[in-house]
Amino acid sequence: MNPCRLSRARKLGGRVMRSTHFTVVLAIFGSAWILASCATKGSTAAAPPMPARITVLYDAFGKDATMTKDWGYAALVEINGKRILFDTGDDPAILAKNVKAKGVDLTRLDFVVLSHRHSDHIGGFAFLLSLNPQVRIYAPKENFGVFGSDLPSKFYRKDESLPPEMRYYGGAPPEIMKFGTAFPGASIQLIDKTTEVVPGVTLIALVSDAPGTKELKELSLAINTPDGIVLVVACSHPGVEAIVAEAVKINPHIHFIAGGFHLLVAQDPAIEKVAAALHDNYKVDYIAAGHCTGEPTFAALQKVFGDRYLYAGLGTTLDVGANPRAESDRNAANVLEEGDLLGYRTLLAKSDDLKDGGAEAARLAQIR
Ligand SMILES: [Zn+2]
Ligand SMILES: [Zn+2]
Repeated sequence: MNPCRLSRARKLGGRVMRSTHFTVVLAIFGSAWILASCATKGSTAAAPPMPARITVLYDAFGKDATMTKDWGYAALVEINGKRILFDTGDDPAILAKNVKAKGVDLTRLDFVVLSHRHSDHIGGFAFLLSLNPQVRIYAPKENFGVFGSDLPSKFYRKDESLPPEMRYYGGAPPEIMKFGTAFPGASIQLIDKTTEVVPGVTLIALVSDAPGTKELKELSLAINTPDGIVLVVACSHPGVEAIVAEAVKINPHIHFIAGGFHLLVAQDPAIEKVAAALHDNYKVDYIAAGHCTGEPTFAALQKVFGDRYLYAGLGTTLDVGANPRAESDRNAANVLEEGDLLGYRTLLAKSDDLKDGGAEAARLAQIR
């Protein structure tokens, strides 16, 4: 029976069953509990939607005076009910300061992505580990890289004519040779190829072919949402177009791209080609470039994307839902989570405590 109908039946039953005090008390408490649970169910249905947002915690430009600008990238990605830290910036003390300034809780994370081995993305790692030593970390699998690795021992040629003392492992190597990490104690899972790590959340693994970063493997974060793919890139060493080409295999609708495109020294024709590819070929809805994208590329993307280019400096929170926008309500973020705050204000707007009319109620309901 529907518990709300059951509660009505119990109330009627309570009138008849007055023979024992105990039964009446039980009926009253039972009814109160069920009525309360029905009321709770009603308010749950009106709960605010889960956040879909990216908060930039580390970058070299920005407007928030309480944060320290520095070269590197880190962002908190809250989407599809997950909280993901994407990279850790360059310096643990600066990451700590910026995280505190934004009121971000790094003890509550579903997992961390370390995109690639460059220090401006992994240097702040010690701060993360001091707060959250057990957190699951995904990092690219590279041979003999800083994240650790392993190889089958059959990779090297053997010479059985040598005496054991001249042979590796005395001539009896382990089947798998394991190599250490620069982050001992961290719970690192190595990603070798593009992998959906949780439903709807994929790490795109590509290798750079660019001079200076040849063979560097980089992970990008692609989240499949009802609005399309939200893609977070670190440095795009394999090329942002190559990363987007992987992402469209998951969902051809690319809704949002945030992060660094690594076009710092690129010349105008190359920049214009990338901007046109993202806008015209891939029809990316919104772009929020940061980090190593480069100043002329910021300008070019802004020109091509118009009001669908969102400013994404240090401290910016990007709403990446159906109607993306940049927001920086730092004080609100410090007091309550956005969803909690929105729910609180919606309830306040409806309450009798707000006596000064509908306009104020409507204003409060609008504030996000
Ligand atoms: Zn890099
Ligand atoms: Zn970088």
